[in-house]
Amino acid sequence: MGDTPQHTNDDPGHLNRRGLMFILSSPSGAGKTTLSRMLLEADPEIALSVSATTRPPRKGEIDGVHYHFVSDAKFDQMVEEDDFYEWAPVFDHRYGTPKGLIRNALKEGQDFLFDIDWQGTQQLYQKDQQDVVSVFILPPSLEELRRRLEERATDSGDVIDGRMERARGEISHWAEYDYVVINDDVDACFAKVREILDAERMRRTRQTGLIPFVRELMG
Ligand code: 5GP
Repeated sequence: MGDTPQHTNDDPGHLNRRGLMFILSSPSGAGKTTLSRMLLEADPEIALSVSATTRPPRKGEIDGVHYHFVSDAKFDQMVEEDDFYEWAPVFDHRYGTPKGLIRNALKEGQDFLFDIDWQGTQQLYQKDQQDVVSVFILPPSLEELRRRLEERATDSGDVIDGRMERARGEISHWAEYDYVVINDDVDACFAKVREILDAERMRRTRQTGLIPFVRELMG
């Protein structure tokens, strides 16, 4: 082996690999935000891609952590300067994925989690198919989805009606995703999401350390 170590740490089973763009999409209320939080807490190899949005912060949301909250004018400027990987209008606001350091970090083996909708998923897929793994989270039923939205109650009744309507639209895109998981029980759903991520990390094409490893293995 040359000067470049092919093992990212002392674990010989852990070869260098290319990072992936892990997309979780669902209608709001299907549990995606909870699952994202659980994944970020449990897995140090994945970081959240923080989107920019023109939507005002909800209670408890922190600028730079949950979103980059920007003005309409700033969003226009970012679009003009080609700062986005993808962007889309969602409800009455715009949301976008800033390019930032993602491309270089993927080469270093850093994975990114994307909490984006089907429009963003299509755009990312078109731009960088090889790095994208997309998972769609379905609610067990529409009644349950409404119950969860009402329970959350951060939005007024009208907004919940709008979100239910939009949920139907969002769900209609399920077949564009690589994986579909029903979130009946959040722990079981989380376990499935992690299995998907683990398996995708082991894809031969992502394991850039394999060729030198096998070369050494074979003497
Ligand atoms: P919320 O306002 O509830 O945080 O998000 C509303 C919707 O916008 C969600 O479906 C979320 O996945 C989507 N979204 C958040 N960030 C982005 C982004 O950067 N790009 C796209 N296309 N959708 C996003």
